Amino acid sequence: MDAEAFRKRGREVVDYIADYMTNIRTRRVTPEVEPGYIRKLLPATAPKKAEEWEQVMKDIEMALMPGITHWQHPNFHAYFPAGNSYPSILGDMLSDAIGCIGFSWAASPACTELETLMLDWVGKMIGLPKQFLHTSGKGGGVIQGSASESVLVALLSARHHTIKLLKQSQPYIEDYQILSRLVGYCSKLAHSCVEKAGIIGFVKMRHLDVDNKFALRGHVLEDAIEEDKKLGLIPFFVCATLGTTACCSFDNIYELGEVAKRQGVYLHVDAAYAGNALICQEFCYLNEGIENVDSFSFNTNKWLQVNFDCSLMWVKNVDDLTKALTVDPLYLQHKHGDKAIDLRHWGIPLSRRFRALKLWIVIRIYGVEGLQKRIREHCRLAKLFATRVRADERFEILGEVTMGLVCFRLLGPNSLTQRLLKNINDSGQLHMVPAMLNEHYIIRFVLCTEHANDMDIHFAWNVITSAASELLNQRLS
Ligand code: PLP
Repeated sequence: MDAEAFRKRGREVVDYIADYMTNIRTRRVTPEVEPGYIRKLLPATAPKKAEEWEQVMKDIEMALMPGITHWQHPNFHAYFPAGNSYPSILGDMLSDAIGCIGFSWAASPACTELETLMLDWVGKMIGLPKQFLHTSGKGGGVIQGSASESVLVALLSARHHTIKLLKQSQPYIEDYQILSRLVGYCSKLAHSCVEKAGIIGFVKMRHLDVDNKFALRGHVLEDAIEEDKKLGLIPFFVCATLGTTACCSFDNIYELGEVAKRQGVYLHVDAAYAGNALICQEFCYLNEGIENVDSFSFNTNKWLQVNFDCSLMWVKNVDDLTKALTVDPLYLQHKHGDKAIDLRHWGIPLSRRFRALKLWIVIRIYGVEGLQKRIREHCRLAKLFATRVRADERFEILGEVTMGLVCFRLLGPNSLTQRLLKNINDSGQLHMVPAMLNEHYIIRFVLCTEHANDMDIHFAWNVITSAASELLNQRLS
């Protein structure tokens, strides 16, 4: 494809994207295909000869679209939002065109420079203490591929630090002897990525009980740490969650920070979804005690109009992180190595896309106020939805409605809510996913799309109540 063909096809694709977004309502939110469906529609081997662009576009509609779950559909209320916006798409187009791989400062200086500046911008937007910013000279932020990666990197950093400290006082001890005694902590509602980080990091991970607001509290952590120390284990890492996946509850950062400081364990905060809302002053109370945290991460690609991937992670002590992850072959070194930042030492992969570009564009095009407005609107709509649920005596809400998630269920056995959700999802009118809270099967209703409005709430509630009436009537007859 030459530049002229690219101009023509590029315009067509931009038109296709704009049409897709504008007319997305006309599509079913979830697909009706079966596993293996695409092999029935596309050839089993790659084409030998070049094909026409028109044919490719035809196949997108014929083979791909029927198998797409439309995350940008106004009736998509599952998981957490997959952030998106036209400015972000344009930012990624530019990044793809520039096509640089910014693993070190020298590999493309603007990548690193813009990324570190953006992490300071957003750090200030969410009120992080100065120690987390690059301008502090000791801390700073980096874009990771996902919140899971941030948790893993935090755990590896804590593990490295703990092993190094212990070896200073016991020089003849072997790494494996320490490793087998390391133990980390999170709440029972922490995301599964924390458990996975424990598996990869080869350390024990304890899932602790939460209080009646589904929050992990300081005394629970401290009791567990004391218990484990008596057993000869070495507590070294805590992952607190701001905005749990199941019900968007908030661990008590202030209390956990006090315990972590007293006990000398590393504290990471996983705020994958809820961290976005900290750009709004009214949510900043959730971050009380943040000064005692070692690292913090959230996904702008969930709720800040930025598309995947763009997970931000800040650390207070960059040295702890980079010492755990630095390998330095000659072919990656450069003449500014001693004074420039090489982000390859801040994470797992070497190669990194220019993700700061879309973040920069999105923040500039919406402004902080525009981004705040979207988050506040989603929170308002969640409250509107909750009002509807509360007014219907067949339903109950579990957990608090603080941000854009409402957890609800039909009164009665779990099987009833389970069947309700299945019927709704099978209808293709709405898409939601379940979770378990205190042995209760609940449906999670999340505000996801950029232009969600009151009509979407009315539509969703109509679908839910009609399905509930049908189910309850069948049960009676
Ligand atoms: N942590 C929390 C609280 C989440 O809700 C999620 C996903 O929704 C994750 C971590 C995992 O995020 P990622 O897909 O970026 O790894």
